[in-house]
Amino acid sequence: MLKIEALPAFTDNYIWMLLDPQSRLCAAVDPGESGPVQRWLDAHPDWRLTDILITHHHHDHVGGVQQLKATHGAKVHGPAAENIPGKDNALADGQRIRVLDQELEVIEVPGHTSGHIAYFHDNAKEPWLLSGDTLFAAGCGRLFEGTAAQMFNSLQRLAALPASTRVYCAHEYTLSNLRFAQAVEPDNQEIAGRIEQVIRWREAKRITLPTDMRIEQATNPFLRSTEPTVAAAASRHAGRQLTTPESVFTALRTWKDSF
Ligand code: ZN
Ligand code: FE
Repeated sequence: MLKIEALPAFTDNYIWMLLDPQSRLCAAVDPGESGPVQRWLDAHPDWRLTDILITHHHHDHVGGVQQLKATHGAKVHGPAAENIPGKDNALADGQRIRVLDQELEVIEVPGHTSGHIAYFHDNAKEPWLLSGDTLFAAGCGRLFEGTAAQMFNSLQRLAALPASTRVYCAHEYTLSNLRFAQAVEPDNQEIAGRIEQVIRWREAKRITLPTDMRIEQATNPFLRSTEPTVAAAASRHAGRQLTTPESVFTALRTWKDSF
């Protein structure tokens, strides 16, 4: 069983460390800078970094790759469709890889970038997902390269994963995402409760992740475009009646961009 630990980077990124306590081997996910990972390894000299997993090509996710690879010889896994520094293993949809003796499935989730991938560990008891900048706690990534239709389909695929799936995303955006979720659904009690909890956690300097798919289904507006209240709010904001879940999603994404 792996342990998963967050290393804060920049102002609001997390570099996830996958840790195998048995072998003392570890992997870093989206190391946008090498410093936090190097300091962790310096503090844990009996551990070895063997793998680097990349979700997409943005600098805050790949900036530390070359340095870590040069120092530790770690193998770099990343999306086939994107230019990733030092990439050794080019991954496409449906591919399965073994990292730290665990199987991970690659899910292509275009939208934030056109080649973005997520990594899913299908463990009946405790499945988990590395979602990068696609699915955030209570939100989703901005559309930099892909279309709203692509992002909608990508999120639909992730939403189909088991409700117990723990979701490890790459940024601490939870509170601001929840403020938007509450503007969309002012009467959603689970959103209201989650805001109070997240405010307490942030005051205590505590990380708000991982989230899980059940909480996201209940509070993330971008997974809730089939809900009549969400569709009504998006329609009001767009100034026209939106009739499909995809058009509701698109209107929500545009609304959030200027929220
Ligand atoms: Zn990004
Ligand atoms: Fe990012």
